[in-house]
Amino acid sequence: MAGDESTVAFEVLSNETRVEILRSLADAFAESPTDPFLDYSELRAAVGMRDKGNFNYPLDRLDDLLVDGPEGYAVSSVGLEVVSALASGSLNPDWTWGPVDAPGACFFCGDSLALRYENGHLRLTCDTDEHALLFPVAPRLLDSTADARGDVVERVAVSSYRQVLQLRHGICPECQGAVTPEIAPEPKPDQGGYYFHGDCQGCGFQHGYPVGAAVLTHPDVVAACSERDIDVRTTPFWTLEWCHVGHETVVSVDPLRVRVDVQLDGETLSLTLDSGATVVSTERSETARSKRSETE
Ligand SMILES: [Zn+2]
Ligand SMILES: [Zn+2]
Repeated sequence: MAGDESTVAFEVLSNETRVEILRSLADAFAESPTDPFLDYSELRAAVGMRDKGNFNYPLDRLDDLLVDGPEGYAVSSVGLEVVSALASGSLNPDWTWGPVDAPGACFFCGDSLALRYENGHLRLTCDTDEHALLFPVAPRLLDSTADARGDVVERVAVSSYRQVLQLRHGICPECQGAVTPEIAPEPKPDQGGYYFHGDCQGCGFQHGYPVGAAVLTHPDVVAACSERDIDVRTTPFWTLEWCHVGHETVVSVDPLRVRVDVQLDGETLSLTLDSGATVVSTERSETARSKRSETE
């Protein structure tokens, strides 16, 4: 079923008139959601097609992407999905963006970082390909033309926070299908340790994060950070020490128990995860407040 829908969507995208018809109907929907219908001549005028023959064929081929009734034509809910995919920019593989300087340092070599969009992915990279982190974000997220949107790094942080939250709850951030979150051994042997991941059976996307990212959304971590004016939802996770690759401690291998120590001013929050990335225990211990700054 899902396969049939994608075939229709791809057919639409291969023909400019079909895309224009869909866009015109989506505009009509945006203008008047309660009455989104355009009659045949209104639609033809909106698309700017004089020749009926060249207009009728693409119109007939839109199938389930539009609703065709006595009031005229309107975009269907499936059609709106296609329009939104078009608007996100994700369907243009040639689009590139960046590099834009990013805070923090590479987990592996300590070099400075930049964000760069290419080949359909946003990468956080030090320029060594094997060190790059991939983010499944749409090109539109990176568009900075609207003033009210705030800093691009913050937008990437918010987006990756949401993805980590979804992954923790078995939702594929890419297609909303089912994923099984896991703490598993890192597949690249030279990078050692474990990682937090989920592979989607539906869209094939492999989501992977450092282990520490799995505790970012835990209420105790959110609260402890908030008390110290750190908003974990808007802070790039790769700048937080406990989210660095290899920061975790393996407590036991069978069953797998991995501890993440969240070191904050005056307190360390230790969270132990099982192989399903569920927090099985938390512990708080006080540390001498600002001890480090006194000795420096
Ligand atoms: Zn590096
Ligand atoms: Zn998916």
